Amino acid sequence: AVQITSLNKWYGAFHVLKEVNLTIPSGSRFVICGPSGSGKSTLIRCLNGLEAYQQGTVTLGTIRLGDNARETALARRQTGMVFQSFNLFPHLTVLSNCTLALRRVPSMPRKEAESLARHFLEKVRIPEQADKYPAQLSGGQQQRVAIARALCMNPRLMLFDEPTSALDPEMVKEVLDVMTGLAHDGMTMICVTHEMGFAREVADQVVFMDQGSIVEQASPSAFFATPNHPRARSFLNTLL
Ligand code: ATP
Ligand code: MG
Repeated sequence: AVQITSLNKWYGAFHVLKEVNLTIPSGSRFVICGPSGSGKSTLIRCLNGLEAYQQGTVTLGTIRLGDNARETALARRQTGMVFQSFNLFPHLTVLSNCTLALRRVPSMPRKEAESLARHFLEKVRIPEQADKYPAQLSGGQQQRVAIARALCMNPRLMLFDEPTSALDPEMVKEVLDVMTGLAHDGMTMICVTHEMGFAREVADQVVFMDQGSIVEQASPSAFFATPNHPRARSFLNTLL
């Protein structure tokens, strides 16, 4: 499980995360939504050790982030992250992008790393792109490489920060389909997304953030039928 307790973060004087509490059981899928600037990306980044925070605790499984450098590094390796921008290395092939981290810590023989990478490229349905460079792929294909690369590390948790918002509409579905497949495989997933169809179909819980706070958490059916918070209601109206 992922446990976030009384998390507070400031950028200088700006209180960006306010007393955030959230428990994400293993194997569950959470969708985080909310207006621009509400702190969604900041929250996600705190889960991956990419952001420091001033108060509160984040526990991934049995590891409390920041307690111990070696354990924190281990927790980070077990957490896959997919961003809006695909962040692939342009000078490396698709296959090398996927094997790069595997070949480092802990290092894996090249043959083994490559067969693992090919397995996950198969899983995201682009095995035939292994020897191409990122610039030769569509946005949807690049994002699927980013997902395959994350999966190669055998993550316990996958974090997605608006993985489809930079994609042309016709490529959104192919990425959401891969994410839905992961969900069906039982992956623990935290997804910042405004794809409400995905939230409705895949999420166990929808979390709505506003101005640095979680103002609503509910099952998708409850959230979409009767959002309690006025800001959640107006947010949903803007999406329709
Ligand atoms: P969006 O939907 O636009 O991606 P978000 O909910 O992900 O928004 P964040 O990126 O988490 O929002 O930003 C939350 C707030 O923190 C915003 O007001 C932003 O301007 C501010 N912020 C983000 N990063 C920094 C930073 N490095 N320094 C100062 N302020 C920051
Ligand atoms: Mg963001």
